[in-house]
Amino acid sequence: MKTDKDIYKRLVDIGLALSAEKEINSLLERILCEAKEIVKADAGTIYLRTRDDSLRFVIGLNDSLNIFEGGTSRQEVTLPEISLFTADGKPNMSNIASRCAVEVESIFVDDSYTSDEFDFSGARRFDEMTGYRSTSFLTVPFKNFSDECIGVLQLLNALDEKKNPIAFPRSNQSVIEALASQASVAIENRRMMDEQEAMQVKLEKDVDNRTEELEDALSKLSEAHIVLKELTTIDPVTGIRNRQYFEEVFRQELLRAIRQQYDVALLLLDIDHFKKVNDTYGHLAGDECLAGVGQAIDSMLNRPSDVVARYGGEEFIAVLPYVTESNAVKLAEQLREDLELKEFKADGIDIKITVSIGVSSGVPNTLEEGRELLSQADEALYRAKGSGRNRVVNYSAK
Ligand code: GH3
Ligand code: MG
Ligand code: MG
Repeated sequence: MKTDKDIYKRLVDIGLALSAEKEINSLLERILCEAKEIVKADAGTIYLRTRDDSLRFVIGLNDSLNIFEGGTSRQEVTLPEISLFTADGKPNMSNIASRCAVEVESIFVDDSYTSDEFDFSGARRFDEMTGYRSTSFLTVPFKNFSDECIGVLQLLNALDEKKNPIAFPRSNQSVIEALASQASVAIENRRMMDEQEAMQVKLEKDVDNRTEELEDALSKLSEAHIVLKELTTIDPVTGIRNRQYFEEVFRQELLRAIRQQYDVALLLLDIDHFKKVNDTYGHLAGDECLAGVGQAIDSMLNRPSDVVARYGGEEFIAVLPYVTESNAVKLAEQLREDLELKEFKADGIDIKITVSIGVSSGVPNTLEEGRELLSQADEALYRAKGSGRNRVVNYSAK
């Protein structure tokens, strides 16, 4: 015979074990097993209250029939939901489990076959199906912190020492209620923790989504920045690179040529008598002609390393890395001839132009020396103009 002290100690142990369960189904299974064990019940079920005022069957255990449903065994057999209210909105008092939930009170039934207090049609159907005899019932509510029913524990067929069914002794009430109270705390805690975990997962997902959005926005911004930066390197009149871009590239090219010791050539081109084009056809036609010439030069010098830019007014410049002096002169001559043969459409008129080109080249040793190529090309261009225009002058060919 167990003493009250033994049972009290056992309840404390059960409480500790229950709060260690990490998963709601294994927790409920453990609650049911412990409850059955304490009062020597042959079978038991647990129902949880749903948001729409029903009791949902979650686990059942019947030793005689060797049936185990719900819990972690997850067999397919389930018992139907029990509504806490009838169709006309009155509390459903005919079912033991629902009455226990509505009144939040424990209920004893000693022998369902002689009792006329409840509707046992569900139990009878079960008995007919299985050959079982559902006789005595002990039904206890799970209560939350506000004493509302959150579920029901139902035990049936208490067994005596010789395993013969007997009615549940009334003394079982306090111990099962104490266990239900421990179990309720564990269920509520488990639910709260599950909710917290779900919230944590959602929060992490939200953070991930926001991070992705932010990265997306940043990458779009940097793409826009690249486009914007690209735009600031273009001359609006001719559509080719501007002088600022040339200065940047020229410096980079010089630094690389100094390190790797290769030739860099510069061609400085100026359209001959361009003032006359403006005077004859108007400034707008002049603009169009200028754009045509710029784009023609740009497409004629088309190696990936070549950079053509508008240098000023009607002057253009080309940086040609890896091009030696003699090749630079040949290229310039070819360019001059091609431009002389071309006609530039402007305002519906075909305009012909010629250009003078100053050429300089060399393998730079310092940035300063490299930059001298600019003044040398300028001087060569000046000489080309002075000696009659429409020609190429190489700076070092004195
Ligand atoms: P040359 O170079 O052969 O000595 O004679 P030029 O007439 O070309 O040279 P000059 O320096 O006397 O005049 C340059 C002309 O280029 C004057 C200016 O109107 C024209 N020009 C410069 N920039 C632009 C432009 O953006 N649009 C137009 N339409 N004309 C321009
Ligand atoms: Mg000119
Ligand atoms: Mg000029």
